[in-house]
Amino acid sequence: MVDVPKDLIDEIKKLEEHFTVDTAKLKEITEHFINELTKGLSVEGGSIPMNPTWCMAMPTGEEQGTFLALDMGGTNLRVCEIILTDQKSEFDIIQSKYRMPEELKTGDADELWEYVADCLQQFVEAHHPGENLDKMHLGFTFSYPATQDYIDHGVLQRWTKGFDISGVEGENVVPMFEAAIARRGVPIKLTALINDTTGTLIASAYTDTKMKIGCIFGTGCNAAYFENTGSIPKLAHMKLPPDTPMAINCEWGAFDNEHKVLPRTPYDIIIDKDSPRPGQQAFEKMIAGLYLGELFRLVLVNLHDNEGVHIFEGQNIDKLRKAYTLDSSFLSLVEEDPFENLSETADLFQNKLSISPNRSELELIRRLAELIGTRAARLSACGVAAIAKKKGYESCHVGADGSVFNKYPHFKQRGAQALREILDWPEKKNQKEEDPIEILAAEDGSGVGAALIAALTLQRVKDGNM
Ligand code: BGC
Ligand code: MG
Repeated sequence: MVDVPKDLIDEIKKLEEHFTVDTAKLKEITEHFINELTKGLSVEGGSIPMNPTWCMAMPTGEEQGTFLALDMGGTNLRVCEIILTDQKSEFDIIQSKYRMPEELKTGDADELWEYVADCLQQFVEAHHPGENLDKMHLGFTFSYPATQDYIDHGVLQRWTKGFDISGVEGENVVPMFEAAIARRGVPIKLTALINDTTGTLIASAYTDTKMKIGCIFGTGCNAAYFENTGSIPKLAHMKLPPDTPMAINCEWGAFDNEHKVLPRTPYDIIIDKDSPRPGQQAFEKMIAGLYLGELFRLVLVNLHDNEGVHIFEGQNIDKLRKAYTLDSSFLSLVEEDPFENLSETADLFQNKLSISPNRSELELIRRLAELIGTRAARLSACGVAAIAKKKGYESCHVGADGSVFNKYPHFKQRGAQALREILDWPEKKNQKEEDPIEILAAEDGSGVGAALIAALTLQRVKDGNM
């Protein structure tokens, strides 16, 4: 232990004030969230898109067949072949992952679709050389907000997660994709365009009937759940029976774009201002993996540049000044480092940033990572609690996927703790006791979920339903 100098202690206190979200605030956010979910379903709409997905049934576990899935998330492109076997709730999967080249994310539409078609063609040629794939159905997991008039249609509302590809916003992405694969003579039929959250919900429900909500806490963040069309005024013109189930892709990253309740810090404001889509995804920018490392970096640069605070004195922080140099895995490592030494953290700063923090600075760094990670988990819980309260779910499972949920230390426990506070659950009697609503690791939504939704769509068409 060392005596941390007073200026750093004062700064740590200020950071704690900035980044801590107490129970009362969590409850206030949740109540506002419930109203916004409802507003998004209305004809007038609100800031959360609440997109109907035309995924209109939960799986039974009896779905069968072989499907392709294409997963275009924020970081990777993945092609999968999924076999839903004749054994209940069982599947086999083979897959290939391709990294999305950074320059593609800010390029133009043609480059994107050519790349996507390339990956798909490579996969098909490797696994089905010379075969006729006319009967092969594909589920395309396109994890961005899209307006869907039917299930194989989707007009991109706006790019998220730092993407800024020209010529796609406001367009139906399905014909663009189909044209690119047709040019290569890949005879595959796109059966369903889905969101990763809907896929996560459906894939998780395939193996666990208690699943009611699907969430992604990764590069971006979002959730999906089912409404009856009777509760979706903006679909009234479709004249569907009011008890028709419809999965809703909330696109909750857009929650509070109008800045009514979220406790934004000056750092959140900078992130938004410098992003390709200022004013969008207010909630996502406070909690998703893409932004956690950037928040952390902005705070450290600000402290260094503040003359009253002595941090990294006399050191060259040029590398730290580069936007988006630190990703959430950097924060994960800092949070995992045993506090006694923080030697891993010291190494990380040395190797990645050429900065040698002293012990007091290391303690501030660690506390900052905890604050940012904890805020993300606690705010995330507000979204889950809002859906559960809106739907009156007193007990259920929530399937969650994404790098932050799966890899960020303590994210799950911190989220569970926040849910307990928001929903006023009594203290657990022992560790084994389950919470009424549990957020659990999901099945692979963007692969298996896409296959299942394609299977459910074929079944719906066969049954003669729209
Ligand atoms: C997208 C959502 C997606 C989420 C998680 C957000 O940025 O808008 O469609 O579900 O990221 O991938
Ligand atoms: Mg300073």
